[in-house]
Amino acid sequence: MQFGIVSLFPELGKELSSLGVIGRALELGKVSVHWENPRVHATDRHRTVDDRPYGGGPGMVMQVDPLAAAIRALREQLPAGSRTLLMSPQGRPFDQSQAATLARLPGLILVCGRYEGVDERLIALEIDEEISVGDFVVSGGELPALLVMDAVTRLLPGVLGDAQSAAQDSFVEGLLDCPHYTRPEEAGGAGVPPVLLSGDHEQIRRWRLKQSLGRTWERRPDLLRVRQLSAEERGLLDEFIAEREAKAMSGKN
Ligand code: SAH
Repeated sequence: MQFGIVSLFPELGKELSSLGVIGRALELGKVSVHWENPRVHATDRHRTVDDRPYGGGPGMVMQVDPLAAAIRALREQLPAGSRTLLMSPQGRPFDQSQAATLARLPGLILVCGRYEGVDERLIALEIDEEISVGDFVVSGGELPALLVMDAVTRLLPGVLGDAQSAAQDSFVEGLLDCPHYTRPEEAGGAGVPPVLLSGDHEQIRRWRLKQSLGRTWERRPDLLRVRQLSAEERGLLDEFIAEREAKAMSGKN
């Protein structure tokens, strides 16, 4: 997978090669990252890339031409079929299923805004889709682009040490992940759920699925509303709810 990043701060790219999953994927040659600075494509003496907004108001707006030129320069380096995404709080909320869809593309150009954002005309001209990483505003598209790049990269075959680990993450099956424990058996005065020490793989699988379902039901009921449960899952969730109620009752007595 080849990434192209349009950013006024390409120095950020240097930090990347030492960054966990992306660093490893770069080393293995599973991904490459091309940074393109719109400032290089500015045509005036001062290398201007932004200007005041028409109609007045605070801040600066990134101009169409330097951004469009940077995007086109990347398109020439990236494989055909690559998509161009603008990082924007007004975009479609990014999620795991979109990460999986993007991981199937040969290349991805991520355009990072700064200041008040980009001139609206750039979007019609060069952008396939706008992507948001959440309902909050950060000061530049670079961190959002890194989030997208990380989420996509860890899904590429051969990037994570154990292919199973990505398959079991939160959201992959439309559920949150189950709780995890590691040594020692006793920590902070608390033990480990006995089933995890039992060596009974079928019981461990059922316990984990039950916890995943229960957590999702408690914390993210919105995820369950859009997901069909199998008969086994329905039964496990009912058990979880009954156990929780029993615990609450015994706490009251
Ligand atoms: N005035 C804009 C925000 C500009 S923030 C607005 O309210 O819509 C500057 C840049 O940071 C944006 O152009 C975008 O590239 C990036 N950015 C900020 N928040 C983001 C988010 N939640 N998701 C993706 N990109 C974001």
